[in-house]
Amino acid sequence: MLIPPGRSRLNLLAACLAGVLACLGLLAACQPEQDQDQEHSAQLFVFGTIVEIKLWGASQEQSDRAFSEVQQMFQGMHRDWHAWEPGLLVEINEAFASGAAVTASQDIVEMIRLSQEVEEKSAGCFNPAIGGLVALWGFHTSDYPIIGPPPSREDIEHILTHRPSSREIRIDGLQLTSANPFVQLDFGGIAKGYAVDLAVARLRELGVGSAIVNAGGDLRAFGLHGDRPWRVAVRKPGGGAIGTLEVRQDEAMFTSGNYARFRQDEQERYPHILDPRSGWPVRGVASATVISKTGTVADAAATALIVAGLDEWMTVARSLGLDQVLIIDDAGRLYLTPEMEARVQLGEGVERVVVDWAAGPGS
Ligand code: AMP
Ligand code: MG
Repeated sequence: MLIPPGRSRLNLLAACLAGVLACLGLLAACQPEQDQDQEHSAQLFVFGTIVEIKLWGASQEQSDRAFSEVQQMFQGMHRDWHAWEPGLLVEINEAFASGAAVTASQDIVEMIRLSQEVEEKSAGCFNPAIGGLVALWGFHTSDYPIIGPPPSREDIEHILTHRPSSREIRIDGLQLTSANPFVQLDFGGIAKGYAVDLAVARLRELGVGSAIVNAGGDLRAFGLHGDRPWRVAVRKPGGGAIGTLEVRQDEAMFTSGNYARFRQDEQERYPHILDPRSGWPVRGVASATVISKTGTVADAAATALIVAGLDEWMTVARSLGLDQVLIIDDAGRLYLTPEMEARVQLGEGVERVVVDWAAGPGS
């Protein structure tokens, strides 16, 4: 769904959605009056969230074209990459389950390559081949919370013993094969990041010199907003913002949260991010925010750090080449790397621990 581009054509729905986002603190900071002619914005609903695109300094014509192209791209990705609605990814998973070869698209092949790298560097904390486990837990749905008991230990073990890994996928051009029928791709932890990267690449090709693509607080920005950097909100568990920061030239910031989507029975709450090594939901870290060069790495890494947990996140972050991370644990405590601390402006009275990055584990 495209909400028409251009401030002058914002319809009532767009205005309402923008209002909701603004209340949640997810919008880039409000634009001063004099900026308004230079800025063009559009919003669309995709990947279960509102994606807001803002361009700075582009002409109306350039903006219209950019918005329409990015909208088409996002719609195609939503269809092709969906883990449970009929589309290319579902066909790929069916082929893997039956041992057949299958032809993928260039972007899916690239996403598998990038996923393989993150899976390896995160010691399997990020693993997009666990679609079977995600489905078993009932997390292939948009309706949360899920009410009911967890799956049986036997069913979880059954999948785990086959150790699905994205690294078992053989790529030959666009042809994919998996010797392991339990490899079932679920790009829920990386797709938004890769989509944002592709959108940014297209905007650049179209000659846009400055833009922000913001998918519900997960974003990538490049260029300047006039004579100042883009200023964005950092998400926190439960909604709203824990602080703000200024984007440097071209970089992405993604937050993975393990609090909003869960299964619930009489005894317990089971959050939606799974530890691929145990097959069970992870606890300890409520949210992980990562700043990186690309949306793909920031998105996948944020998911990986939630799985890594309070004991391992620094080791995994180092291995992924990250130095700008903010972790909020289940008790609401904040942990920041020194590089992150230097950038983020936290709200009044927010307590935090700046970790000893130089001496920390993994150094
Ligand atoms: P995110 O919100 O980016 O952290 O992504 C969460 C989504 O990634 C879940 O809804 C699942 O679809 C998928 N997922 C869950 N656990 C993992 C994991 N350990 N590695 C990769 N993807 C996962
Ligand atoms: Mg992610």
